[in-house]
Amino acid sequence: MQRYPDDALVCGEVARRLLGGHTPIVTRFAPSPTGELHLGHVLHAAWVWGVAEGAGARVIVRMEDHDRARCTPAFERAILRDLAWLGFTTDDPSLASLQEAHSTFRQSNVPEFYQAAFDQLARAGLLYGCTCGRADLPAPGPDGERHYPGTCRGEPIDRPGRTAVRVMLPDHVTAVEDLRLGTLHQHPAREHGDPVIRDAQGQWTYQFCVVVDDLRHGINLIVRGEDILASTGRQLLLGELLGRTTPFVTVHHPLLYAADGTKLSKRDRSETVRALREAGMSAREVVEAGMMDDG
Ligand SMILES: [Zn+2]
Repeated sequence: MQRYPDDALVCGEVARRLLGGHTPIVTRFAPSPTGELHLGHVLHAAWVWGVAEGAGARVIVRMEDHDRARCTPAFERAILRDLAWLGFTTDDPSLASLQEAHSTFRQSNVPEFYQAAFDQLARAGLLYGCTCGRADLPAPGPDGERHYPGTCRGEPIDRPGRTAVRVMLPDHVTAVEDLRLGTLHQHPAREHGDPVIRDAQGQWTYQFCVVVDDLRHGINLIVRGEDILASTGRQLLLGELLGRTTPFVTVHHPLLYAADGTKLSKRDRSETVRALREAGMSAREVVEAGMMDDG
């Protein structure tokens, strides 16, 4: 059975050469429990576990439920059940831990880690409060993001009213080794500006949590979809501000697209893993369907 994309195994072998020898290689599967797994997730899991297989890496599973309004325990249970059924398992303690009420692999259970990182950046004088609304920012660029020009730099973080907190990024060009795409050069300060780390509702943001978590979990092999390629440089800089000294490499993999060109995750729910299982497909058939349009 073809369980993993061929390219994933090849990328993993390169990761083993680049990272192996001195440190354990650790990658992660980090879903947000905002819905059930669908074929786009199956392709992603096949890449994560395939790269790990090639690299001899550990896979940890982490629940990215920092968005408290959209994540539910029921979706988390469904994701864990579907992963097990598909055969994407690991003997890593993260999976066993996620069966328990409290887990350090579930973002909502460990606010102290994000607060500590926030305090560290605040002590370094790198944070500021931003009250800009959408109307204050330029129109979105080609990647759909609005460049933040640094309007509020220098303002205190405890401004009255709805205040997001941003971190000042250094004006550096970043270079990240992507094992599929080659070296990625990005200029986060110019391309996107200072990222929000805590939004105006007081929630930690994706960009911030993922950097804190990858640091505390020792992740040095990041496998994810090409759709978040633009985040890599700013996550590198943010990690450096938080004291990261060890290198990491990335594998940005292709995504599944529907016939009309939209990203699969935006489609209706008819192709969830649960629906396919209930329609009588085997786990093997579902994994193969997930990889079918790969490349
Ligand atoms: Zn602002």
